[in-house]
Amino acid sequence: MEDNFQIENTRINQGINKKDAFKDYKIADNSFLDELEGRSPCPECCKSRKFFCYTCYVPMPPLVGKLPDVKLPIKIDIIKHPLEIDGKSTAVHGCILAPNDFRIHIYPELPDTQKAILVFPSDDAEDAVDFMKRVKDENNGIFPYERIIFVDSTWNQTWKIRHDPKIVNLPRIKLNGIESLFWRYQRGNPITFLSTIEAVYHMNIIFHKHFISESYNGEYDNLLFFFRYMFNKIRQLYDPKSLKAYATRPYLRE
Ligand SMILES: [Zn+2]
Repeated sequence: MEDNFQIENTRINQGINKKDAFKDYKIADNSFLDELEGRSPCPECCKSRKFFCYTCYVPMPPLVGKLPDVKLPIKIDIIKHPLEIDGKSTAVHGCILAPNDFRIHIYPELPDTQKAILVFPSDDAEDAVDFMKRVKDENNGIFPYERIIFVDSTWNQTWKIRHDPKIVNLPRIKLNGIESLFWRYQRGNPITFLSTIEAVYHMNIIFHKHFISESYNGEYDNLLFFFRYMFNKIRQLYDPKSLKAYATRPYLRE
């Protein structure tokens, strides 16, 4: 336990030292998120939410019309386990920021699996870059699939989804060597364990570079609009310079 904690702290410090992790990204200004006061009732379920509803996948009324609208080069489907619907998953960011190309399905509901590939970090999954290269060569530059499916679930819950008869035989790919910026929420996971929105983001760029254009100009960076906001909030919380503001005994300060 202690070792894990130490590793995590080291990662937090490394993160702080990366001055602005999103310096080279083309992400819309998100300062208006800070100006939003309090919560609103969700227009669909009436529950009180801050920026978006993580059960209805809609933005809260004060944000409607102000958020980036990302166009993805391929359809993205997320399968979630019904026991894991909560506010922590970053998958909802995709529904809010790329509403035309991004869907969440609560298992046993499934997306169309006819022309789909599955992103899954198992040993037998092919590296995503190798897969795209190979498929491009084999199909004269045409991508023969229509959608990329991700499973957004902890390991305990994924077995059943992965072994569903409609899922079990899909081509399986994985992302290799990409470091997560989200380790803070991933206690005990390796740094390459990506949050769902990060995995979707990187997969879209890999697809783009093989089937759309070799140059990437930030077309999908706004998928990380809320992610960057959350990341910077966490950074402020752990930045030594601002730690005073979070002193455990404020009454001792002059
Ligand atoms: Zn709702």
